[in-house]
Amino acid sequence: MDEGLSRAVREVFARLWEEGLIVRDDYIVNWCPRCQTVLADLEVEREERDGEFVYIKYGPLTLGTVRPETKLGDTGLAVHPKDARYTQFVGRDLEVASVDGPVTVRVVADEAVDPDFGTGVIKVTPGHDPVDFEIGRRHGLPIRTVIGFDGKMTALAGRYAGLDRFECRRRIVDDMRALGLIDRIEPYRHAVGVCYRCKTVVEPLVSKQWFVLVKALAEPALKAVRDGRIRIIPRGWVKTYAHWMENIRNWPISRQLWWGHRIPVWYCDADGSMHVSRTDLTACPHCGGPVHQDTDVLDTWFSSGLWPFSTLGWPDQTPELQTFYPTSVLVTGYDILFFWVARMAMFGLHLTGQVPFREVYIHTLVRDAEGQKMSKTRGNAVDPLQFMDTYGTDAFRFTLAALSVPGVRDIRIAEERVEGYRNFANKLWNAARFVLGNLDGYAPAVARALAPGLADRWILSRVNATTHAVRLALRSYRFNDAALSLYQFIWHELCDWYLEVAKLSLYGAGEPEARLRAQHTLVTVLEQALRLLHPFMPFITEEIWQQLPHRGESVMVAPYPRRRAALADPAAERDMGVVIELVTALRNIRGEMGIAPGVTLSATARVADEHAALFQDQAPLVEALARTRLTMDPTAVRPPSSALAVVGPTAVYVDLAGVIDLAAERQRLDREIAKVEEVIAFATAKLERPEFVERAPAEIVERERVRVAEQRARLEKLAASRRWIDDGS
Ligand SMILES: [Zn+2]
Ligand SMILES: [Zn+2]
Repeated sequence: MDEGLSRAVREVFARLWEEGLIVRDDYIVNWCPRCQTVLADLEVEREERDGEFVYIKYGPLTLGTVRPETKLGDTGLAVHPKDARYTQFVGRDLEVASVDGPVTVRVVADEAVDPDFGTGVIKVTPGHDPVDFEIGRRHGLPIRTVIGFDGKMTALAGRYAGLDRFECRRRIVDDMRALGLIDRIEPYRHAVGVCYRCKTVVEPLVSKQWFVLVKALAEPALKAVRDGRIRIIPRGWVKTYAHWMENIRNWPISRQLWWGHRIPVWYCDADGSMHVSRTDLTACPHCGGPVHQDTDVLDTWFSSGLWPFSTLGWPDQTPELQTFYPTSVLVTGYDILFFWVARMAMFGLHLTGQVPFREVYIHTLVRDAEGQKMSKTRGNAVDPLQFMDTYGTDAFRFTLAALSVPGVRDIRIAEERVEGYRNFANKLWNAARFVLGNLDGYAPAVARALAPGLADRWILSRVNATTHAVRLALRSYRFNDAALSLYQFIWHELCDWYLEVAKLSLYGAGEPEARLRAQHTLVTVLEQALRLLHPFMPFITEEIWQQLPHRGESVMVAPYPRRRAALADPAAERDMGVVIELVTALRNIRGEMGIAPGVTLSATARVADEHAALFQDQAPLVEALARTRLTMDPTAVRPPSSALAVVGPTAVYVDLAGVIDLAAERQRLDREIAKVEEVIAFATAKLERPEFVERAPAEIVERERVRVAEQRARLEKLAASRRWIDDGS
């Protein structure tokens, strides 16, 4: 209601009026008798209800209707032009018996009649049905308004005048039955139009309303989406949008409400003339007589539809308009795709000659756990503030991002999910405290000159790859993929692995360089992770950011990270992958054999040539992380009472003398074999799908082939161990 926006509204109304695109006309509109206002087609909701299909005798003809009370407003009967059953009646005025004595109705032939529905005859009530209104116009049938704006029968309804429309329905059926005018009644379930606000059954009524002849505006707005000047994401909504724009009807814009932009039209009290004006009128421009403004207001979407440019000072060519229009992205829910998005597209193109926005991202809607739309009246709304109080705003916000799967229209919010991301926030907080608590003596300039170790190179390469994945996902509006990449990286790579590795350098009695190097990597990676995560978890990231040793600005204005080609380190990822696999395998053995955490194990690695140097270098790390001392022996054979860990071409025999339980080991191997067989079957099936082999990038197909080969080698080793156990026992 600001002055600038009010000015834009009047300007648009006046322009469309001058262009002949706004008209005032008698028209059948959807009327809510409770809200006392017109509803646009979009504001009418359909509800399935049980009703009755009442077959009424009209002289020689019989027809079915769900609204017998509108019989009082009938001014015609209609049949299909090609329906031979009724050709003899077309064009005739029939005098037929009715509840108040005989009445005359004309029989017309119209394409709108479905000859296969009911008896193929319909009654025409132009005053109370949109289809009948059109038929009536085509055939010049008079309008009889028997139901008023209050939902009660009018004086024209004779003895039913003053009755509520539904009460009248019951009475008239009884009366017709008594007069023998009812042929039969069948139960009938059908969709009834109800007010979106109060669910009252809508009454179609004829009245004087203002309309936008919207077809002329719809065509360019449809074209802009078709040719990609406006991109709707996800693409699935384009079809819905197109269907609506192709079938658009005149848009009634007047509302009989108190609140809103008043229609800028004045009527002369002296000569009855009508004036559309951009400024308030105090006297009639024709005769100088007193004037009064139209009391109706505009549909709220009329002004909302101007939003992309009315907020920037339009119709003036302001610097804001020139800088920010067209806007880049509009983010909104699908429930207002037509109400708002389509209207902005139509108005934007018509009034500025440009699209109002280049991309429209349609997000999901949150439903309750049963999938119901949340509403105040249903009382099933989840209070976001409550979630935020309990789990934190960051956790709640992250949940919404993680649930925004493209193409999924509705999401259900489950408390456990929010709780899980609260734990994630805690994990990050604890990791940051660990980093910040171990920065004594940190000298970035010195640290930068040190050569990074394997784990450092690995985590730097991983944060770089994560940066790439997050950016790609954001660019295509896959907020869920971006969120989950960050979750995976921070929890399962940074916290699960790198932090554990760094502890050895920070706590150990090793050389000070190792400590400095770990500090440097931790700060670098944490800093980048915070910037990446900031849009998803703004509060915790800012809080941690402010404590990092850097030039203290807000993380909000720090540049969003970019992938740096130099940091991609496939060799480090491969080697660290081997270390992680080995440590995981050793930990699994410990776990399955129930070996106490304090016990240090010994193992012999029959190490393949390609792993020799790596195992030699990383043996201390493996020992620290898996409490297992490694001895290298390229020709080792599996000793009795040993467990086997297989990492690619290398076999590691864990000495279990005294602890081994052969039966348990046999079971473990069987499980492992089943798992590897499953991986092979899955990858093989993928490679057998022509669409995968043809469409996926060559390196991905190749990687899949390598994986199958590796897993086959692994399977052979596992099978050999299994045989060994059987032979040995
Ligand atoms: Zn209503
Ligand atoms: Zn006048």
